[in-house]
Amino acid sequence: MIARVVVDVPVNRTNRPFDYRIPPWLRPLVQVGSRVVVPFGPRKLQGYVVDVTDQPEEGTGRLRDVEQVLDDTPPLTPELIRLGEWMSRQYLCPWVTAMQAMIPAVLKGRSEKWLKATDLLDETACGQSALLWDVYRKRQLPLAEAEKRFPDEAMLVPGWIASGLLETDYQVRDRITRKQQSFVRCLLEGAELTSAIDSLPKRAEQMRRVLELFAAHEGQSFSVQTLREELGITRSPLKSLEQRGWVAIEQVEVYRDPYAQRRFAGGEKPSFTPQQEAALKPIGGQIAAGEYGAFLLHGVTGSGKTEVYLEAIERTLAAGREAIFLVPEISLTPQMVERFKARFGADVAVLHSALSQGERYDEWRKILRREVKVVVGARSAVFAPFQNVGLIVIDEEHESSYKQEETPRYHAREVALWRARENNSVVVMGSATPSLETYALAARGRYTLLEMPERVGSRPLPRVHVVDMREELRAMNRSMFSRLLYEMIGDRLAKQEQMVLFLNRRGFSTFVMCRTCGYTLRCVHCDISLTYHKTNHTARCHYCGYTIVQPARCPECQSEHIRFFGTGTQKVEAELARLFPGIRVIRMDVDTTSRKGAHEELLHKFRTGQGDVLLGTQMIAKGLDFPRVTLVGVIAADTSLHLPDFRAAEKTFQLLTQVGGRAGRHELEGDVIIQTYTPEHYSIVHATRHDYPSFYREEMMQRRRTGYPPYYRLVLITFSHEEVPVVIRAAHSVADFLRPRLAETTILLGPVASPIPRIKDRFRFQIMLKYRDEPRLSDLLAQAVDVFEEGNKQQKVLMTIDVDPHVLL
Ligand code: ADP
Ligand code: ZN
Ligand code: ZN
Repeated sequence: MIARVVVDVPVNRTNRPFDYRIPPWLRPLVQVGSRVVVPFGPRKLQGYVVDVTDQPEEGTGRLRDVEQVLDDTPPLTPELIRLGEWMSRQYLCPWVTAMQAMIPAVLKGRSEKWLKATDLLDETACGQSALLWDVYRKRQLPLAEAEKRFPDEAMLVPGWIASGLLETDYQVRDRITRKQQSFVRCLLEGAELTSAIDSLPKRAEQMRRVLELFAAHEGQSFSVQTLREELGITRSPLKSLEQRGWVAIEQVEVYRDPYAQRRFAGGEKPSFTPQQEAALKPIGGQIAAGEYGAFLLHGVTGSGKTEVYLEAIERTLAAGREAIFLVPEISLTPQMVERFKARFGADVAVLHSALSQGERYDEWRKILRREVKVVVGARSAVFAPFQNVGLIVIDEEHESSYKQEETPRYHAREVALWRARENNSVVVMGSATPSLETYALAARGRYTLLEMPERVGSRPLPRVHVVDMREELRAMNRSMFSRLLYEMIGDRLAKQEQMVLFLNRRGFSTFVMCRTCGYTLRCVHCDISLTYHKTNHTARCHYCGYTIVQPARCPECQSEHIRFFGTGTQKVEAELARLFPGIRVIRMDVDTTSRKGAHEELLHKFRTGQGDVLLGTQMIAKGLDFPRVTLVGVIAADTSLHLPDFRAAEKTFQLLTQVGGRAGRHELEGDVIIQTYTPEHYSIVHATRHDYPSFYREEMMQRRRTGYPPYYRLVLITFSHEEVPVVIRAAHSVADFLRPRLAETTILLGPVASPIPRIKDRFRFQIMLKYRDEPRLSDLLAQAVDVFEEGNKQQKVLMTIDVDPHVLL
């Protein structure tokens, strides 16, 4: 038997399967999708089995052996292997890199493999084997140790795994998450417990609460975390109870399920509105028929899209298939997860980048072991290793976080569509502000367009007021708050209603400039301005992390008038405190949310009324649903309009529409105030009227005029190296290769210096291709990669190809 293996050497030359013989003792474990170790030249490499056959491709020569199989169950399915091959062609990345992107980081990194006893391993099964006896007694043993102590039996291990006596598991050291696994068990019961409660001194209030809880739930254990959250206690009463011998605090090994200890309520289905029914009919039809279908669900915020998704998922499960629900990282809030858990209970796995590596691995294993049927997750959850995907939902399909900005530079929407075609399943893309690309395809009939123009319960969309900040200046108001916004904030404070203030952070440069000579602080490694951070008076580069202490004098002219410019969230916070003494502001930005769990904590504080204002950047713009918010203010709407990005108007429109959707979602009506210096810009005009179709028409005209997507498609090729002549030479060699081979209608721009010409001391040049019809493009680019690699054996120029790029810097 022969395994065809794609090895982990991510260059073009090795981007194909190589044949290896499968030695007899490994046969039980080798399947398509297995991760293996194989010899490659003088090295040993990891690789993926993409085919198992008895026909060697490379007829001649003696084949070398597969040396190891790394997992009991292949981490990839045959479908995902084919997907990897497609991605490799589509995105010009090595096949192996595409496959690596589909599995949890734990499997790639250094982690220890353990042998574990299963229920089948009993004394009879252990028989004569010293190894089995050892595992049986200890329940688990590091594989390396087992092989060292029982070398004669090492070869038998794969067979035992295949027959189910042993299983293997990767263990990651992950102290943070394990620490939270301590549980408290009460050692008293009945009368003992009652008299213990009576014997407590009056001031031991916290201890009393704990014991009373145990009295009410006899025989039950609670995690320390649950007790602290539910009873609002500190750790010390638990310690005191332990010292008295009344409770035991134990480390319990459970799945590192970050949501396990919460209680989920609700989950009842509403009766659908007519527009929900109208959307569910065709979606449900395709699901029932088990046929491919792609839908764009265009519905205003609050129109009930999420209920449609939930119902579609339910019908998919009823049809015996599995569902993937994708959300942008940023809106994968506990609230969202709760809604799913309430509906589908333990059938749901959650994949979130805020999880620790170990937690992610555990969630992913639930999918692989068929313990769940629904996956909720960000971009990479589109690779969930289900066997029978029936539905993929992409919520907020316009979000740029669905595009991965490192190799493989895939778009989750395209991957979802590929999987749906492959499996005869359904894709539902939903948004209040669809991307132009998607809407244009829906308009042309490639996707079925489903419109939900009304909010549930006919709640009115919030009133939108546009404030021209130029008028404010003329009226001598130099504050960052217009008179109207100032008034309304005061009004909401008086009524004790909540508000959200939004700072369009993109483009808000809090850079440091000398007011005497105009000198700005710049990164010494990258050609961009440093960003000022108030907390520790430093200026930091957002690309490479280079940080300096804010200088007291200008390095250029020695002037003392060097200070930071621009409006950051911290500055707004300070201004609010000055204007409205006592106002409670919860600030959410990169600084306050970098710690794990901080994001969630801040939102919880706001939700439970511990703040009047939620102040933040993009991260508060979407997905959040707060009943008591009746005012949304956008401090400066147009900052993102001036970025060198052909999507600037689209992103501004999306942001304003999304932010507006935050107000008046419930019984209370809401106001939205948009402050801007360009109130006449069409993205702002149409956003204030919640008018997507008009925005779409106007923006499409712009795109046609300037030659951008969806009229043209783009490929961005970027080169970088420490020396300018070297990088220019490489860029020209590729451009010279491509130019004569491209279609006549295709435009090749460059090579030119990139908009950010230097990052981390590497100089950057780029080539941009704009094309309408270029059927052989993938082949051509693959050849270009060969040409590039051939000329770049020593030079270490980096080349990246970005197909349908989102970031043009
Ligand atoms: P969207 O995802 O479009 O923003 P949601 O699905 O979150 O909208 O619905 C908005 C609100 O309306 C939610 O609070 C939801 O529970 C409620 N809702 C949705 N559909 C119905 C319905 N058919 N009947 C009553 N309430 C509904
Ligand atoms: Zn100066
Ligand atoms: Zn830098």
